[in-house]
Amino acid sequence: MLLNELLTEFQKSSSKSEVELDLIRRAFIFSQKAHQGQKRKSGESYFNHPYETAFKTAQWRLDSLTIAAALLHDVVEDVGIDLEEIRKEFGEEIAFLVDGVTKLGRLKYRGIETQAENLRKMVLALSKDLRVVLIKLADRLHNMKTLFAIPPQKQKRVALETSEIYAPLAYRLGMQELAGELEDLAFPYLHPGEYRWLLQNIKERYEERQNYLEKVKPIIEKALEEQGIEPIKIDFRAKRYSSLYKKLLRYDMNLEQIYDLVALRIIVKTIEECYAALGIIHQLWPPLPGRIKDYISLPKPNGYRSLHTTVFCLDNKPIEFQIRTLEMHEQAENGIAAQWAYEQKKGTKEYLEEKPIFANKKELLWVQQLRNWQKDFFDSGEFLQSLKIDFFKDRIFAITPKGEVIDLPAGATPVDFAYGIHSEVGNQCIGARVNSRIVPLDYQLQSGDIVEILIQKSKKPSQSWLKFVKTGYAKKKIKSALRQSPMLVRKGNFQTEFKITVADRIGILKDITAVISRSHINIIKVSVPETGHFPNLRIRCDLNDKKKIEKLILKLKKIKGVKEINYKIV
Ligand code: MN
Repeated sequence: MLLNELLTEFQKSSSKSEVELDLIRRAFIFSQKAHQGQKRKSGESYFNHPYETAFKTAQWRLDSLTIAAALLHDVVEDVGIDLEEIRKEFGEEIAFLVDGVTKLGRLKYRGIETQAENLRKMVLALSKDLRVVLIKLADRLHNMKTLFAIPPQKQKRVALETSEIYAPLAYRLGMQELAGELEDLAFPYLHPGEYRWLLQNIKERYEERQNYLEKVKPIIEKALEEQGIEPIKIDFRAKRYSSLYKKLLRYDMNLEQIYDLVALRIIVKTIEECYAALGIIHQLWPPLPGRIKDYISLPKPNGYRSLHTTVFCLDNKPIEFQIRTLEMHEQAENGIAAQWAYEQKKGTKEYLEEKPIFANKKELLWVQQLRNWQKDFFDSGEFLQSLKIDFFKDRIFAITPKGEVIDLPAGATPVDFAYGIHSEVGNQCIGARVNSRIVPLDYQLQSGDIVEILIQKSKKPSQSWLKFVKTGYAKKKIKSALRQSPMLVRKGNFQTEFKITVADRIGILKDITAVISRSHINIIKVSVPETGHFPNLRIRCDLNDKKKIEKLILKLKKIKGVKEINYKIV
């Protein structure tokens, strides 16, 4: 039943091969089985969620691989099925898409305003393929629709993340309809008071306007018909609460100033008809000066095309009209997804063959499109040179334990990360944990890594860092710190190197360095050669007094997880 509905939706725009249908069938059954017995917080069966997610991607006319991946998007994270199994059953590309969505699921936005843009970039960087973003957006849409079922604290976080990260991403992908829907779903959770106010004050006006427009509609239909224009559709578009609220803030909450509370939308066949219809409307009613917007000859940065005008309509009431073709309308609703469907239809044969469609080749066209659409994306900074999904391939985005995103060049190390937080954190850095594991300071970070920097007060940077740091900023700061403290470039037999075998538990490195610091011993370097059963830490200290060394060892041995300590004077 459900499966048939999904397959029907998938085949709506064009006929599909048996191979594609079978792929969706298999993914459907696999996912249904995997989620069997699982319930969502709302009480409904869990499978409903991946199903709705997949259905949305089918409505966007995405390919069978994407729909299959959408069906499977939660089986790794929520059921614990190995990605390997997905790869064996469904092939490399679906495994790649599922893995991408799983990774995005681990990102959390914690409301640091300046971080939103970095996090948006990070979503794209981690996705590598726009289809991953699209599945994630479909997933988020369904989660927002069922947000009422989860605890209030979490509601707020998810709603904020939706409004700050996913809705703007959807908008930039040209998916205005989705962006608006996400915003509207988040709005009551973010601004409950304002939402209630709007409900109380707007509802009547919406109805009043709709009734009014019902009277306008036949007049305009007749006028168009007289000029030989047969519109595909005339409907009303009520302004969304979230965007109405934003607009009201700009107009001192004066509802009378909002002319597009409910707009009349006319869909015609050609661009010529768009302009002709505009002329006809202006013959009927005088336009408000300064309110005619030609987004056809000058599309919005996200690709939106349409003609807008506000006229003094019946009884002299200002009313907004929006005029566009069906193609423009579909693009405004579905943006990049509409583009994707269009490109797919174009190349049918090769595109829809059984062989997986790898993003790179296919991407070119719509990436080009995207690039044109997303000028505002570039305008916001120097970092964006192109908008291929791999356009972040030279950047990595790593996160502090508090959720702050640090934007770094590819190949950057924990030391670069530390300097990215603050020069003092860089200077005092003695070690790092990445995703809860101790790593050497020259470790190469990956996008999405959670990086915890361990510091020791009054520690100075090491000359050797200059060999591996990637950012110019870190280099500069290291050099200047070294210049200020020539003492530190000491050579010779002043130092002791401890080799400590430890169990890898959270906080152990911190505990060890804290004990050393409390003994007023300066740490020169911490390194982690990962051999043997337990990690071996090597810690080099400014120390060559046997008594002090032995005292320190006694203290260190008391730390939980410390197995064995050796040392040598170097
Ligand atoms: Mn999900």
